[in-house]
Amino acid sequence: MSDERPAIPFQSPVLPEVLSEKTEISFRCYPGISCFNACCKRADVTLAPYDILRLKRRLGLTSAEFLARHTVPFQMDADGTPGVKLKTSEEGACLLLDGDKGCSVYPDRPTVCRYYPVALLNRRIAGEADTHQEYSLVREDHCKGHLEDRLISIGDYRQEQGCDLHDEHNREWYQLILKKRSAGPTVGRPPQTSLNVFFMASYDLDTFRRFVLSDKFKDTYDLPADFYAEVQADDLVLLKFGYRFLRQVLFAEFSIPEQPGAWDKRVAQRQEVWDLRRQAELARRQQAEDEKYQGEL
Ligand code: SF4
Ligand code: SF4
Repeated sequence: MSDERPAIPFQSPVLPEVLSEKTEISFRCYPGISCFNACCKRADVTLAPYDILRLKRRLGLTSAEFLARHTVPFQMDADGTPGVKLKTSEEGACLLLDGDKGCSVYPDRPTVCRYYPVALLNRRIAGEADTHQEYSLVREDHCKGHLEDRLISIGDYRQEQGCDLHDEHNREWYQLILKKRSAGPTVGRPPQTSLNVFFMASYDLDTFRRFVLSDKFKDTYDLPADFYAEVQADDLVLLKFGYRFLRQVLFAEFSIPEQPGAWDKRVAQRQEVWDLRRQAELARRQQAEDEKYQGEL
């Protein structure tokens, strides 16, 4: 078994005890428990792509509006891979907490909130493309659910909290992150443009849709008309395509065919840009030279 770090970051550098779906935990959480909402008052919620899709829909916002109003950015690794967390108050309370009523977005709460106090660990097995889900238990003093007299397997707890759907739609994204992490220096720091594409395809789906439906994209990639119709109509098709696109951008895993001559066209366009820049630089230097000698001639 590889000792890859989990996909969802932890605060502690100590690797947690790894549990399986069969492991039983003693836990129950319900409105009326003495610590109700204590966890949401010190929230540290990293969001995955499907979380954002559900939350922005629930709040009736575009992805850009949701990101601006409800999230803060952070770097997931030393290469600057962008991540986003739910915004909190200065005291650390989640801003989606509605006083004593509890979570205002409960049916669409993020993956991390569903799992708590279980933490999801996605691990990569050496030599295998797929990842394996394992778990650990987070014990925090403020959470009294651990003292409740109910034994439940982690598998049943996942079912109870509706984690399956979230995992299904986020899984390929976790795989991307683990792949990048395990590739380490062999892949190197992706260029800023690739990191921007990672942010857009992972979190800002409405902008990514505009990008995919743009003439420039259609001129570059050779995809059928019904693909574009599906992307226009279905967020999940777009989300999945985003993962495929990121594999191409980050790892050169080419699965999206390009239009004939697209590469030559891009090179020619870049050449044009370089030529224009060179001409502008020459003109700037010429002007600087002229100014230097003004009045001497
Ligand atoms: S999203 Fe809901 S469950 Fe999650 S921390 Fe915020 S208030 Fe709590
Ligand atoms: S039992 Fe734990 S998870 Fe439930 S409200 Fe209390 S602190 Fe939050």
